[in-house]
Amino acid sequence: LFVLSGDAEYGGRREVRAQLVVIGAGPAGLCAAIEAARCDVEVTLVDENQKAGGQLFKQIHRFFGSEEHLAGLRGITIGSMLLKEAEQEGVKTMFGTAAWGLFPDKTVGILKANRVDTIRADRVVLATGALENSLAFPGWTLPNIMGAGAAQTLVNVHRVLPGQRVVIVGSGNVGLIVAYQLLQAGAEVLAVVEVLPRVTGYQVHASKIVRMGVPILCSHSIVRAIGTECVEKAEVVRLDEDSKPIGGTERLLDVDLICIAVGLRPMSELARMADLRFGYVPELGGHIPLHDETMQSTVAGIYLAGDVSGIEEASTAMEEGKLAGFAVARSLGRISQSAADRRISTVQSQLIMLRQGPYGAFRQSAKQKIIEEYGSFA
Ligand SMILES: Cc1cc2nc3c(=O)[nH]c(=O)nc-3n(C[C@H](O)[C@H](O)[C@H](O)COP(=O)(O)OP(=O)(O)OC[C@H]3O[C@@H](n4cnc5c(N)ncnc54)[C@H](O)[C@@H]3O)c2cc1C
Repeated sequence: LFVLSGDAEYGGRREVRAQLVVIGAGPAGLCAAIEAARCDVEVTLVDENQKAGGQLFKQIHRFFGSEEHLAGLRGITIGSMLLKEAEQEGVKTMFGTAAWGLFPDKTVGILKANRVDTIRADRVVLATGALENSLAFPGWTLPNIMGAGAAQTLVNVHRVLPGQRVVIVGSGNVGLIVAYQLLQAGAEVLAVVEVLPRVTGYQVHASKIVRMGVPILCSHSIVRAIGTECVEKAEVVRLDEDSKPIGGTERLLDVDLICIAVGLRPMSELARMADLRFGYVPELGGHIPLHDETMQSTVAGIYLAGDVSGIEEASTAMEEGKLAGFAVARSLGRISQSAADRRISTVQSQLIMLRQGPYGAFRQSAKQKIIEEYGSFA
């Protein structure tokens, strides 16, 4: 029997109290935990993975962006650095622990080693990240057709090369980076297929794989996968200006792996369960839980940060995490109003800076839309 002071036991299920529970130890959750803990908030950080870092732990490439946001370092290094900081600040970490429930009264249901418990939290930061989108076409359920992120996990985390002859569907950053990492691991990438007439990821990533001989087939799509036990062929076709297949341009490629990299969407099941209001913002991944300018959701005391509040990058996830961390500390009276306001406005300026340029400006206006829509419910 294990009862902490102020905790209760219900028929073998333990209910623990916490000031702040952060769900998800990716860059967003880690930064929220660190900043809140620095302001003397007692923080419990929960993640279903066995280690911290979220997406970062499978990113072996050097990050792009500014030095201030740790560009030049590899994702795994950034994850380890943030975890060390969190531990130094006294954050209580619970890895291998899935949050199965989040209720509007800020009770968090957790599952660890077949044991179900609940945590009654004063505040919650939801930082559960994103899910990969799928794409349905004839044959899409054949073995070895998988999300590009899944292939990346197999190669970079488990050191298993899932195929030798690969077609990647989607030329965003995920598709391009995974193509490069599969090449590095010894696979042959036969093509990256892109439905739009242009590459959608950063040119720097596209150039790298083109230099290694990978054709990026723009205005092309996959129409069918063929195979018996496993995928054996991918049929790709050229598209006209209305995105319709052009007859006679079909090509069969001999493959043993197809990676789907057609975007991500927020992992928002817990947000739905807690009755948070959503808005439809396709630029950031579809249905997104709304938040205000300090990342508070439409349920008071539940905050959001990172990809769950709109698909962006690790740099913005970290800043949103800090924002949520400061806002939580302010709401609990752990930091003076003026000190919190100063820090919050510094982070907000950083976010505006990160959301500039050809790849950022649309994210700034989409975030603005989320905040405005939040205002209509508040
Ligand atoms: C291939 C690829 C390359 C990328 N390269 C870059 C780059 O170079 N630069 C850059 O800035 N960004 C890059 N990104 C984007 C970046 O990784 C993400 O935007 C960032 O990781 C989002 O952070 P997050 O904390 O919101 O979510 P995540 O990193 O996804 O972390 C979410 C965490 O929540 C946990 N979790 C989810 N649900 C539960 C639950 N119910 N219970 C417990 N735990 C849960 C997960 O296990 C995970 O650890 C890349 C992404 C990919 C896929």
